[in-house]
Amino acid sequence: MEAKTPDSEEPSVAGPVLRAQGVDVAYGPIRAVQEASVTVEEGSVTALVGANGAGKSSLLKALVGLVPMRAKELSVRGADVRRLGTLARVRDLGLVLVPEGRGVFTGMTVDEGLEMGRRIGRYREKSGHVEAALDLEAVFELFPNLRDRRRLLGQQLSGGEQQMLAVAKALLMAPSILLVDEPSVGLAPKIVRGIFETLDAVMHQYKVSILLVEQDSKLALEVADYAYVIEHGRVVAEGTAEQVKELPQLRAAYLGVAAAVAAPVPTNNGMAQR
Ligand code: ATP
Repeated sequence: MEAKTPDSEEPSVAGPVLRAQGVDVAYGPIRAVQEASVTVEEGSVTALVGANGAGKSSLLKALVGLVPMRAKELSVRGADVRRLGTLARVRDLGLVLVPEGRGVFTGMTVDEGLEMGRRIGRYREKSGHVEAALDLEAVFELFPNLRDRRRLLGQQLSGGEQQMLAVAKALLMAPSILLVDEPSVGLAPKIVRGIFETLDAVMHQYKVSILLVEQDSKLALEVADYAYVIEHGRVVAEGTAEQVKELPQLRAAYLGVAAAVAAPVPTNNGMAQR
């Protein structure tokens, strides 16, 4: 993927893979995202954490062009994507969403679903966007369960396997960045942990940058390098995962009590505050 082999010694390209500045999303009178700015550095896992209804999914959907938005800047590796449709963002720039609810085509077999991803990956190879897309064998190494279920329909898979299929399909598209929306929803903690470990492995082995949206901030911050906290549609804090873990809103999650409340964010911890 991106011509990189596992554990490649090649230095990562400097600079952000994704830069979004001043993003607004509205559903009629509902201002779901306001002036949000997010940057994902090449070869990193960046998390977007916040409570239910904070605007995380709306921001992800806006980035891939699934809901209308306004932005001062939206670029992938320096290329302005604001005028591109969703398909062009996927095929030409590798901006790939793993949607919440897994986006699995339940009436298709595992093989058919993977082939959809593979087709985009082949297009990206042929058009010179990437030197080599990930192949099926590499995907089955990451998700061995899927190898045994190739002929099953999506609806015959467990929730965890459906999530694996959604990530596998996205990986076959040779993403430059994976936008992963709430992978933990509806899954048992053990399964979720496995999926997060695989996402971490994907980032390290294949240098695919990840923007991870997650309500379970504790889990997200275990794999993230950097994180943004979103409340009521606004990014209210950002910092390294270690810094964000120390925020009052996030510490609640670590203590196992109600997560992410709209509390004021301290200004003396060295993080950028909004
Ligand atoms: P969740 O974890 O519940 O998905 P979220 O942080 O991803 O929460 P969003 O789903 O982006 O939040 O929702 C942000 C706000 O926008 C909420 O007030 C929600 O009710 C509203 N909203 C989301 N989608 C729509 C829609 N299609 N039409 C109208 N309002 C919407």
